[in-house]
Amino acid sequence: MRYWPRQTHREMREQLGVFALGHGDAEERATVRSHLNKCATCRAELDELAKVVARLAAVNPANLGHV
Ligand SMILES: [Zn+2]
Repeated sequence: MRYWPRQTHREMREQLGVFALGHGDAEERATVRSHLNKCATCRAELDELAKVVARLAAVNPANLGHV
């Protein structure tokens, strides 16, 4: 398994948030995807982010008026 420098993870973690939200350009998303293929740590991180994104999506401002 290839060793990823800590700096790469830092950069990827920033990109993961963008990726989880479905943002970023094609090149950025391809970079993240290729890193995810090799890095279980960032895959786990993306899983966590996906849960947060799902929670945020559930807190839709359009729903707040009914509380
Ligand atoms: Zn990583």
